[in-house]
Amino acid sequence: MQYVDPVLVIEGPLMAGMNVVGDLFGSGKMFLPQVVKSARVMKRAVAYLEPFLQEKKAAQVIGTQKEGAKKVLLATVKGDVHDIGKNIVGVILACNGWQVIDLGVMVQSATILKTAREMKVDIIGLSGLITPSLDEMVHVAKEMEREGFETPLLIGGATTSRVHTAVKIAPHYSKPVVHVIDASRSVPVVSNLLSDNERARFEGEVKEEYAKVRNQYEGHQREKEYVPLEEARAKKFTIDFAAEPPVAPKSTGIFTYRNYPLAELVPYIDWTPFFMAWELAGKFPRILEDEVVGKQATQLYADAQQMLDRIVQEQWIQAHGVAGILPANTVAHDDIEIYADASRTKLLGRFHTLRQQSKKAPGVPYLALADFIAPAGTPDFLGGFAVSAGHGVDERVKRFEAAHDDYSAILLKALADRLAEAFAEKLHEVVRQELWGYETVRLSNEQLIKEEYQGIRPAPGYPACPDHTEKPELFRLLDVTKHTGITLTESLAMSPAAAVSGWYFAHPRSKYFGVGRVARDQVEDLARRKGEGTEWMERWLGSNLAY
Ligand code: SAH
Repeated sequence: MQYVDPVLVIEGPLMAGMNVVGDLFGSGKMFLPQVVKSARVMKRAVAYLEPFLQEKKAAQVIGTQKEGAKKVLLATVKGDVHDIGKNIVGVILACNGWQVIDLGVMVQSATILKTAREMKVDIIGLSGLITPSLDEMVHVAKEMEREGFETPLLIGGATTSRVHTAVKIAPHYSKPVVHVIDASRSVPVVSNLLSDNERARFEGEVKEEYAKVRNQYEGHQREKEYVPLEEARAKKFTIDFAAEPPVAPKSTGIFTYRNYPLAELVPYIDWTPFFMAWELAGKFPRILEDEVVGKQATQLYADAQQMLDRIVQEQWIQAHGVAGILPANTVAHDDIEIYADASRTKLLGRFHTLRQQSKKAPGVPYLALADFIAPAGTPDFLGGFAVSAGHGVDERVKRFEAAHDDYSAILLKALADRLAEAFAEKLHEVVRQELWGYETVRLSNEQLIKEEYQGIRPAPGYPACPDHTEKPELFRLLDVTKHTGITLTESLAMSPAAAVSGWYFAHPRSKYFGVGRVARDQVEDLARRKGEGTEWMERWLGSNLAY
């Protein structure tokens, strides 16, 4: 038998194959799921060949890379646990021949900088999903500047944006800072930044573009008017609770659900966001027939169904949840007090809601979630919940990763997210139909996705309640960690990542809205109400400050 040097195989046909995949993806002829699957073939081939390599050579080709390959460091920032997008970007970059050093989730700034220096990386990419991560990214940028780094900085993740990157991050770091909207964009951005010929031009263009974004942003900010908090309160959304009384619940208290049957959650899955996670755009089920992505979507959906069957049959993950319905009243316009029992004499806790302040047309109310709860004198109730379908995920993911199977690892995380959202949907239905007990009709999954039911379940971090610092109170009142195992990180992200929490408002007039930006008077008032300093409050409300 003829002996073939494994290094030649890796650097020859395997790399050539991956280059083809990279090019096809870059030109829109291949889609993300296919690329991630191809990477699995590549990684497994390398893993197979590895024992045949001499030691030194093995070190060179780890991660499929040859010596001298440019290095990209990726990390989800401190306090954040979300990494589906980052992991996809890692696979895509590796397919394009770059060496990826992935530090995982909840990575301290000091670790990122130290590793970047030791490994002499060429690019640092930061990822994060929840709003407090935006602030942490600013911190990393400042630290890079302070330590005299020259490495370009990439910013990505669901709450990041070009505007935030240009306005809040880029001014703190004198070297290139670039927002990367999705995995497919990561390839051209990294190529440009690492190209001797293109780098200067690309950096110049980004600098110019971001300066423009900053100017526009500042102009827009100057034009926007905000009313004083007192005025917003005077013009709040008023419900005539005598004419439209609060919905009396059938039961009150705390209800726990351990090891909720996964099979019951599957019909409640909203599949559209699942395809979005894989950068396949379109509404489910139509997406399966889509002219451009239909074939890919169908294949991905089949893979998902297959894994979902195993998740359910073999109980790969555990779903735990807790829901509560507690006596409540609004106090001082914007706060909601929670009471121990119907006598409403013993205070259990207190939530603080944010009120819109951005100037509106005459007669249009300034909303806060507290408006949907009656003030003292009228018995009312607030619900809360937390669910997770993430227990057991990490262990499986580790097994997949050990088998060089990023595709299945990412698929599982995406499915766990879907099951957590499905659990939130299912539990809300249980609450409406049984516990609060005001819903008598059965809605289809399509109707549930369209939120055609009475009442809302706003989640902290979303537009009606962007303040994450209300989460600890929700967790305390429902004893969430004890009942579900979900914990809060220092940035108040929920761990495991496949988790959802929020409140239930049952009043037929309750609705979703966005608080938008708030003025200094409200931030000071809110800080006072919470017994915290204004600066602390400003740090947490970073992206909602109007000043
Ligand atoms: N079916 C979707 C549900 C998530 S998005 C999925 O499976 O991913 C819809 C949820 O986001 C709502 O149930 C609510 O919890 C939250 N939400 C949406 N708009 C909101 C707003 N303006 N304020 C607060 N929460 C909001």
